[in-house]
Amino acid sequence: MNSNEIRKTFFDFFRSKQHEIVPSAPMVVKNDPTLMFTNAGMNQFKDIFLGNQPAKFPRVADSQKCLRVSGKHNDLEEVGHDTYHHTMFEMLGNWSFGDYFKEEAIAWAWELLTDVYKLPKDRLYASYFGGSKDDNMEADLEAFEIWKKYLPEAQILPGSKKDNFWEMGETGPCGPCSEIHIDLRDDDERAKVAGRDLVNKDNPLVIEIWNNVFMQFNRKANGDLELLPAKHVDTGMGFERLCMALQGKKSNYDTDVFQPMITKLAEMSGKKYGENKEADVAMRVIADHLRAIAFSIADGQLPSNVKAGYVIRRILRRAVRYGYTFLGFNEPFINKLIPTLVGQMGEQFPELKSQQVLIEKVITEEEAAFLRTLETGIRHLDSIIEKAKAEGKSQIDGKTAFVLNDTFGFPYDLTELIAREKGFTVDKVGFEKELEEQKNRSRNAAAVETDDWVELRKFDTEEFIGYDNNTADVVIARYRAVKSKNKTQYQLVFDRTPFYGESGGQVGDSGYIESESERINIIDTVKENNLIVHITDKLPQDASANFHAVVNEEARTATANNHSATHLLHFALRQVLGTHVEQKGSLVRPDGLRFDFAHFQKVTDEEMKQVERIVNELIRKNTPLNERREAPIEEAQKMGAMALFGEKYGDKVRVIQFGESVELCGGTHVPATGQIGIIKITSESAIAAGVRRIEAVTAKGAEELIYGQEESLKEVKALLNNPANLSAGLKKLIDEAAELRKTIDALMREKVVALKGELKAKITEVNGVKVLAEEVALSPDAIKDLAFQLKGEHADLLIVIGAVNDGKPSLTVAAGDALIKDKGVNAGQIIREAAKEIQGGGGGQPFFAQAGGKNAQGIAKAIAKAVELGTK
Ligand code: ATP
Ligand code: MG
Repeated sequence: MNSNEIRKTFFDFFRSKQHEIVPSAPMVVKNDPTLMFTNAGMNQFKDIFLGNQPAKFPRVADSQKCLRVSGKHNDLEEVGHDTYHHTMFEMLGNWSFGDYFKEEAIAWAWELLTDVYKLPKDRLYASYFGGSKDDNMEADLEAFEIWKKYLPEAQILPGSKKDNFWEMGETGPCGPCSEIHIDLRDDDERAKVAGRDLVNKDNPLVIEIWNNVFMQFNRKANGDLELLPAKHVDTGMGFERLCMALQGKKSNYDTDVFQPMITKLAEMSGKKYGENKEADVAMRVIADHLRAIAFSIADGQLPSNVKAGYVIRRILRRAVRYGYTFLGFNEPFINKLIPTLVGQMGEQFPELKSQQVLIEKVITEEEAAFLRTLETGIRHLDSIIEKAKAEGKSQIDGKTAFVLNDTFGFPYDLTELIAREKGFTVDKVGFEKELEEQKNRSRNAAAVETDDWVELRKFDTEEFIGYDNNTADVVIARYRAVKSKNKTQYQLVFDRTPFYGESGGQVGDSGYIESESERINIIDTVKENNLIVHITDKLPQDASANFHAVVNEEARTATANNHSATHLLHFALRQVLGTHVEQKGSLVRPDGLRFDFAHFQKVTDEEMKQVERIVNELIRKNTPLNERREAPIEEAQKMGAMALFGEKYGDKVRVIQFGESVELCGGTHVPATGQIGIIKITSESAIAAGVRRIEAVTAKGAEELIYGQEESLKEVKALLNNPANLSAGLKKLIDEAAELRKTIDALMREKVVALKGELKAKITEVNGVKVLAEEVALSPDAIKDLAFQLKGEHADLLIVIGAVNDGKPSLTVAAGDALIKDKGVNAGQIIREAAKEIQGGGGGQPFFAQAGGKNAQGIAKAIAKAVELGTK
């Protein structure tokens, strides 16, 4: 079976067991502060497990794009070095939400693997939770008993809490799990050592393929476990590992999932896969990482310097470095593999195909930038090694290695490799200490402690009523404290709320809630796994009272103006620039809007004006909002709404339509476009290869902008005595200034001639050398002119001139030719020493040198010093 058939068989099987097949959630997570990337199939169902949302179907199955490169699951360092861990991989899963449990889950896993996929039964092992005395937890004998129906006891193994007890986090749903392992070794190997002795022992051919989690407990903040009212099944099977087992391979990279990329890499590098260990690792790293990078970009996460974007940047750099060091690529190369990847995965994941150009562009630019950094880093390291050599050292200290890593993005092992080539070692312990310290610093800064929710009232879902209301009578359903380094805040969840929780680029509402006895400010509103969470600095004294909730209306209205304007802007951009314009991000706040979109060159002033005009035209038309709250997704698409990649949509969507502008959107909007008043674009810039950013203001914000501009114009006019024609007036002023400059230059030259005469009279002799030493009131350029004239007339003269212009001292030293020849005088050397007196530096040639400094008081001393040095 090829990989596509293997995936399809999985879906068909679970469909036959009444499972609904659902799409993968985006790999980049948006509304969960605890997670940057989807790292397991269950992430998208977290709400259901937490009881925040009812399940739509009791049984579902899917293939989920996962990324394990940060946080709890970080496999990055293994990837490429072993043959079965990836950064990005597909996790096949089946779920029961309060429906079937262990009995069916195990039976179906067994049926699929052995009956359908026909994996040999004697190569399979199952584990169950063996209990933990320390934690006072019992073994999962239920699972053990079920497995006995299918496997001999010798193939069923008890497992530790670490391997066989799954927890969502510090708190929340958890339960025992049962893993299925497979032994893929050759028969003679198997005869020597039994497979069961190698389970969970990091043998690359005896590996876990499927994990079945049985969620039956809730872990509380004090560590106690309580039974969940509804029990769930959550399973995850590594798709690439399954392909290896079914295709009779010994490495995931030998399956048809990765082979096209490996083959292409071998071709590009002129190296054969399987001949050299280091080159093989490099090819695996690149074949793996390019998937993670391409899928992230397709999901809207571009490489950047912060958070998720930084994680992606680091993965890309890791791939570049392996290619650079072990495959000899010193030009961008990863981007050239994208067509192969798209050919391989584009059918199953259309987001790759439709964004191929953008993906290639972004990767090419990142690669080129990092290759430059690498070159700079290598040069920097070379000079460090040279210097260390001169000092008789043979080790690079940990701090230096850390700085290389931190500021140059220069990985430790590369530092070590280059150092080794030059006969140097690196202080690894010191490096790790620095790294640890840095981690601690950021950990302490970011540490937050979240208490358990205090439940005041049971409720199904918190209803959002903010589309129609700015105020409402509410009660608090639950609350909790969140403590960070220097403050404690509280999170409140209501039974229903008019407050919009930050999402879809629109910031959260602020406002207050009020009971008979007190008023509590709502500082911000965020969304956490679909719960709308209100943030306050203070807990109400009586949390169970009835409250009246009031949204800050002015801010909300301004935000709605900007949000609707963003839609019109999107529409106008597509009209003016073309339909390749696709939203890549947005930020909608009360005081302005930001819109990022795919476009491959600068938007010209002319185009921007056109866009602005179209939007303002649409505003004046005062088109009413046509809002559909619960439209079936197919219908929305028929209306012309575009779904964004990297966004998660349900079957029912909200459609926001203003005339021809149709978008899927959960934000708050104006009742008719006229309310926006006017839009003014304030800037246009590039934020990445192929991605532009426009910022704009509307309504009052635009009004203020226009007033501001008017005000400065008025000021300028007043300064020019209100000329009839402002630009002609300004032009006249500029021309006059140029004339004046010419006159000043001419006067200066005359002054120099006069001064030269005066100075010549002051030539003295020191130690038999003719010296002219003076402080004058001239600019450094005029002094230079003067010094050259004097030098030309007196070949045996040493000239030392100091000056202070606008508080800044300067020193000039010049020496005539004869002086240089006969006495070895060197103006450049003299000035290096003498300029120290004015806290300055500078240099030059033996015949002329100039230096600027900071300490005007030292000018006399500097002159004296220069004379002393020049007449020795
Ligand atoms: P392992 O111990 O092999 O790292 P795990 O215990 O981390 O696996 P789970 O978190 O239980 O794995 O994930 C479920 C399944 O996903 C695993 O059985 C495995 O088949 C697959 N899987 C896990 N991590 C990776 C990875 N980094 N690359 C590819 N597949 C993986
Ligand atoms: Mg793991």
